[in-house]
Amino acid sequence: MSDIRMLALDIDGTVLDDSQPTIGLGTLHFLVGQHRDRIRLVFATGRSLSSTLKLVEQGLLFSPDAIAAFVGTELWLPPWEKPDPIFERIIRREWDREGVVKTLKAFESIKPQPEEMQSQWKVSSYLEDASLVPVVDAALSARGIEATVLYSCGLYLDVIPKNAGKRAGVDYLRQSWGIAPKRVLVGGNSGNDIDMLEDPRLPAVVVGNREDELQQLSEAKQVYQAEAPFAAGVLEGAAVHEFWTRV
Ligand SMILES: [Mg+2]
Repeated sequence: MSDIRMLALDIDGTVLDDSQPTIGLGTLHFLVGQHRDRIRLVFATGRSLSSTLKLVEQGLLFSPDAIAAFVGTELWLPPWEKPDPIFERIIRREWDREGVVKTLKAFESIKPQPEEMQSQWKVSSYLEDASLVPVVDAALSARGIEATVLYSCGLYLDVIPKNAGKRAGVDYLRQSWGIAPKRVLVGGNSGNDIDMLEDPRLPAVVVGNREDELQQLSEAKQVYQAEAPFAAGVLEGAAVHEFWTRV
């Protein structure tokens, strides 16, 4: 069995704070560098591919082996030319973007995010009232639209195809690389990380500066709640799950 392991991390609020390095990031980069030939590094992020690659170019982030961009609706691998077509085929089933847009228009308190945050596979809005999230979910279901509603940081509302998301993206990559679930570590801080963090097979860490949405995370044993914030919290979780050393 291969010794390869996979580190799948959210970016904003997990390893970076407002596009700045966080406490522990230097050590995390050092460790990833030490183990580089046996680690597959994935960023699972709400950002676009280009915005993520810019952070890599600026030297803020290690160059990853894959990016699950736009909250796991696009999977990109070097040389970053086009998103993985098989994953795209999986998520396109039963996706009705127009229906989603129409449904959201009925809510006065939902405002669209800028055009560059929209994509074929994602409808992104601002919503300050968290109590409306289940109402949105119900409104989509009532129209027969199968979609996943993500809510993060008390502001960002993303509606994506039901087969998409960070968990689906990470799982697809893990399987394509033939990595055992116990050799994975996933880490995040907010609502759009919940599906990935709750995958019962995967060791996970929630950083200390977690958002309120993560209160609803199940008490699964595999999910370690770090004391330390940001990258230092990821390191704490990696140590607890014996991520670097587990055979
Ligand atoms: Mg985040």
